Amino acid sequence: MDTKLVLYNTLTRRPEPFEPLNPPHVGMYVCGPTVYGDPHLGHARPAITFDVLFRYLTSLGYKVRYVRNITDVGHLENDADEGEDKISKKARLEQLEPMEVAHYYTERYHKAMDALGVLSPSIEPQASGHIIEQIALVQKILDAGFAYVSNGSVYFDVEKYDKKFHYGKLSGRNLEEIVAGSRELDGQSDKRHSYDFALWKKASPEHIMRWPSPWSDGFPGWHMECSAMSTKYLGEQFDIHGGGMDLMFPHHECEIAQSTAASGHDSARFWIHNNMITINGQKMGKSLGNFITLEELFTGKHKLLAQAYSPMTVRFFILQAHYRSTLDFSNEALAAAEKGLDRLMKGVETLSKLQPADQSTVDVSQLEQHFHEAMNDDLSTPMVISTLFDWVRIINQAAAGQQSFTATDLDRLKALFQQIVFDVLGLKDEKNVSTGGNDLLAPVVDLLLEIRAGARERKEWATCDAIRDRLAAIGIRVKDRKDGCDWEIE
Ligand code: ZN
Repeated sequence: MDTKLVLYNTLTRRPEPFEPLNPPHVGMYVCGPTVYGDPHLGHARPAITFDVLFRYLTSLGYKVRYVRNITDVGHLENDADEGEDKISKKARLEQLEPMEVAHYYTERYHKAMDALGVLSPSIEPQASGHIIEQIALVQKILDAGFAYVSNGSVYFDVEKYDKKFHYGKLSGRNLEEIVAGSRELDGQSDKRHSYDFALWKKASPEHIMRWPSPWSDGFPGWHMECSAMSTKYLGEQFDIHGGGMDLMFPHHECEIAQSTAASGHDSARFWIHNNMITINGQKMGKSLGNFITLEELFTGKHKLLAQAYSPMTVRFFILQAHYRSTLDFSNEALAAAEKGLDRLMKGVETLSKLQPADQSTVDVSQLEQHFHEAMNDDLSTPMVISTLFDWVRIINQAAAGQQSFTATDLDRLKALFQQIVFDVLGLKDEKNVSTGGNDLLAPVVDLLLEIRAGARERKEWATCDAIRDRLAAIGIRVKDRKDGCDWEIE
């Protein structure tokens, strides 16, 4: 490989060569979902972006410890440490235990991620399971002098921190701007300044999720969990911290401040942020009526959707844009992605049927080189896809006899397609499961059709029809040809 992996670091605002602190190990922390509602389109992009990074780093030979958390406590309705806990609120509305809400939506999230081909992270810690670590970290920040206790709550002293370190370095803000942009306190607050943020909140009498602490019965501030859990599983310094751009301020900024206040230095070397998805040019939001859950997307049941889009169509659609560009969702764009994915998968199928020749007319190593160049250029999945389409064209020409490959090159080409399309981009062939997710279905259907072919030779028509009809009933269509039959999933 000629090129080295370069990633855009939000912290330094420039692309930087990626070198792990402790090779071959890579520590990566990504902010996961707050589990109080159905997973939606906005969850798909960070999950897929960091899944591809996880897969690519693994394919380069790194041993990646990928930690993606589940927020099940402490995320309040707004970012100013006010309002109800999002999970408590849902629990109150639905008359459930908060942990029932968290469990239910965690399962829904896992199911949707599975459908999207997103691999499970190495560790998926829950905030509620790490209260002890969070209390210890709050204490450490208090001991270092960067927090104060007020009426049973603990707040981060942004001004004091800013004098020694710089608060706002990730989002590119300075304290004066933050002060100018923040509201006056209403006199009810325990904070000294509105831009101070909660490390620990004293629970009001009606607040259900509460734990004892040296300061009060209460709960941790939202930003605390990520600092505590990343330190626990990846150490005080680790390689990559990721998340959506919407988390950069205040969430990630506060994480940096907490870690720096506690240990004297920043936690992550690379901060990587994916851009947002817009819907017909608008930000997605419940109030705008354009909020689409992944289930609605997969079933087509939403007024904005012209049809259902399969999970792989959604994945392909997201991969067609660079993760740092905005991505506008529309029926036209999704339909185009569906067509593109189909063309790619047909190319994979054609490749599997190509016969070797005495000589190769195209240099297969170019595919490998272009793939690495594109991925090493800050994970340019659109470039990878464009290269794949160039090769689909070459494969189609080979099927028409205009290009040829030796047996060795053909094997190499197949291995490269497997690596790029399935292992790194994480796509699955939803139509032809023999190459994709379900390894058992294809051989079982083939076996049934072999039995049916035998019955056909013996002119046992009832058996033939029964097998065809029963397969059709479960969505597998058998198409008879003169010399055998094909099948596909409808
Ligand atoms: Zn986080």
